[in-house]
Amino acid sequence: MTSVSRRLAEAAERIIPGGVNSATRSIGAPWAWRSAHGATMTDMDGGVYTDYHAAFGAILLGHSDERVNDAVTRAIADIDLVGVGTTELEVEAAQLIVDAIPSAEMVISTMSGSEATFQAVRLARGATGRPYILKFQGCFHGSYDALARNVISTPDRAWKRDPNSSGILDDAVDHTLIAEFNDLASVEELFALHPEQIAAVILEPVPHNVGALLPEQSFLEGLREITRKHGTVLIFDEVISGFRHALGGYQELCGVTPDLTTFGKAMGNGFPVAGLAGSAEIMSNFTPTGGTVMLAGTFNGNASSMAAAIATIKVLQDPEVDFYGHVYRLGDRMRTGLQSIADHLGIAARIAGIGSVFVPYFLEGEVRGYRDLLRNNTEANAAFHRRMIDKGSFMYPMALKRNHISLAHTEAHIDRTLAQAEDVLAAMARE
Ligand code: PMP
Repeated sequence: MTSVSRRLAEAAERIIPGGVNSATRSIGAPWAWRSAHGATMTDMDGGVYTDYHAAFGAILLGHSDERVNDAVTRAIADIDLVGVGTTELEVEAAQLIVDAIPSAEMVISTMSGSEATFQAVRLARGATGRPYILKFQGCFHGSYDALARNVISTPDRAWKRDPNSSGILDDAVDHTLIAEFNDLASVEELFALHPEQIAAVILEPVPHNVGALLPEQSFLEGLREITRKHGTVLIFDEVISGFRHALGGYQELCGVTPDLTTFGKAMGNGFPVAGLAGSAEIMSNFTPTGGTVMLAGTFNGNASSMAAAIATIKVLQDPEVDFYGHVYRLGDRMRTGLQSIADHLGIAARIAGIGSVFVPYFLEGEVRGYRDLLRNNTEANAAFHRRMIDKGSFMYPMALKRNHISLAHTEAHIDRTLAQAEDVLAAMARE
């Protein structure tokens, strides 16, 4: 890393803890960025990278998309934030979401995915009067207390007590139960241990926070059955999968309809916007409808976020653009290409993913649940991403991290990245 980035990163470190505004932005090198357009981002020293990190998946159409940016500019010329009643933008965005997401009859907008899952958990507890939440080892649902635990756990901590932060009350940690993804027996066991005490089961239908575990259809259907039987709220956290894999989220693809859905990230193509949707019955537990669950947020539904979401969703709906056709095609090209390079070189790798997401796991055999990911060669995984950055393709340099393809990527980007990957993997095979 050359000097301008280094100087800026050092200035940041003096006044921002670790020099970053979110802990996972700190990746051991002093990165500082000047611009990001389309599939490309440019650092402060003019280094140009094809971006597969996509701001942890918040970029769907490509950086600084003109359709989105222009819509935001037009909207804020008229209105910013009033803070009573509603606006045309809020109603239009809500209608687009209700029309798109199968489980959505009503929707609220929040500013981040963490707020959306926070509201979902509180709503589930408020509606059922029960204390426990059940989540899965490997899934991440945001930074706040009830859900922070057991994401990427070391083998000795997996499924055990593994809060990701200090400062969380024991009660908050202990009221979140941990099961194994794609394993209904582990869920049944917890229901048997805590009868009529589990308010919600929350999951990423595709656990993208450990790359891309693919859900078995019988697992999702089984969760639907178990939760219905026990009067428990089923929450699909589609903050990553929503809008990215289908306009209606993964629930549109799998045909299993949860009670509540959270979404965020990509729906604003880089602008801060997220939300929570569900049936009118359960959403009516919020105070403005006469329920008892508090709903609050100064910036919720602000004009720039709403305009960004509306513009992004309209691009996704446009048959001429064919967003899903494009990213699924390029995703397949990337996954098949990487798998065949690894196979030729005799490297034990599984290229996982769906649609726009591709994830190189460095392991042998099947990948069904978190248990299998403990076999991943984390060093090789991180080294591959690090070396791809050196070649000019930006992939977050840590094991189990997913890569994203946007509408702005072309076949030429994919083929160039595949050629770089061939060099990198051949060098790794020789060592
Ligand atoms: N849910 C999932 C599935 C996520 O991946 C994330 C963020 N990585 C969140 C919730 C939290 O979203 P935010 O960072 O916008 O608070």
